[in-house]
Amino acid sequence: MLLKHISDLSREKKPLEYAEIPRPAPMENEILIEVNACGVCHTELDEIEGRTPPPVFPVIPGHQVAGRVVSKGSKVTQFQVGDRAGVAWIFSSCGNCEYCMNGLDNLCPEFLATGRDADGGYAQFMKVQEDFAYPIPAYFTDEEAAPLFCAGAIGYRSLALANIKNGQLLGLTGFGASAHLVLKLAKHVYPDSKVMVFARSEKERAFARDLGAAWTCDIGERSPEKLSAIIDTTPAWKPVLTSLENLNPGGRLVINAIRKEEGDKSHLLSLKYSNHLWMEKEVKSVANVARKDVTEFLRIAAEAKIKPEIQTYPLKDANKALIQLKERKIKGAKVLTIS
Ligand SMILES: [Zn+2]
Ligand SMILES: [Zn+2]
Repeated sequence: MLLKHISDLSREKKPLEYAEIPRPAPMENEILIEVNACGVCHTELDEIEGRTPPPVFPVIPGHQVAGRVVSKGSKVTQFQVGDRAGVAWIFSSCGNCEYCMNGLDNLCPEFLATGRDADGGYAQFMKVQEDFAYPIPAYFTDEEAAPLFCAGAIGYRSLALANIKNGQLLGLTGFGASAHLVLKLAKHVYPDSKVMVFARSEKERAFARDLGAAWTCDIGERSPEKLSAIIDTTPAWKPVLTSLENLNPGGRLVINAIRKEEGDKSHLLSLKYSNHLWMEKEVKSVANVARKDVTEFLRIAAEAKIKPEIQTYPLKDANKALIQLKERKIKGAKVLTIS
């Protein structure tokens, strides 16, 4: 499925185009993966609508890839043909800058993203350097594994950046693919922490309660108790202000969104230093994902038996899955199935 240009999804309902293209050939340090499943991420909407546009068109989107190695370059040592392998948002980084040397390859100035700066997984085949591919734990099917590569891994990074201790209260604003995995992960890592979920629809709130949220309400409402950290996965600005009001002194708001939309930006004019920032409240964004996030999250998810709730669509229905995501028809994670 090719993305050929920026689209306005309020009018264009088929932003991607199905096409037959030649099978890519792996370079000496690359593997070729036959893709079985690829997760659908809100970031694809940001690419399509131009908030984080691909530098070159056409491009194959998709950065939550699970499949099997079908061929490999002569210098590949970590994968054999037939091995299961996955790919995440980090497609490559320079490997020798200060960030790369310190496990912060997500911040590398030469960071390239799968499915934006290079062809991704909305396809039958994709190639990637072996150092940027991951073995898939046997516990997961490919459909289950795919959302772990972004929704899960970046959720893991967000929770680490939230920097709470067991027993402290955590809030989640927005309840899509990533947040539902963070809730499962938080219950495992911080068993004594209550998790409060702020979500727009009653369906999402009911789903959050099913998964163990201690309390749920609409976005913008006041939490019954102040929270030590909140992870915001919404594309809007208003939740930034309401989240800051719901924080304890010293609390941290972690924004897990590659871009915020412009629509409700005027809310920021009601920012009050005394309510929203005073008392050492912090705001931190989550940028991309480091390779160690992916590796560590896959291990923990398999150990703790954390599986995503998934809805599957055949590859040719990628546009339908994206439009439903745009319209917030969400329960857990959407996954394209390919072969
Ligand atoms: Zn993503
Ligand atoms: Zn680097």
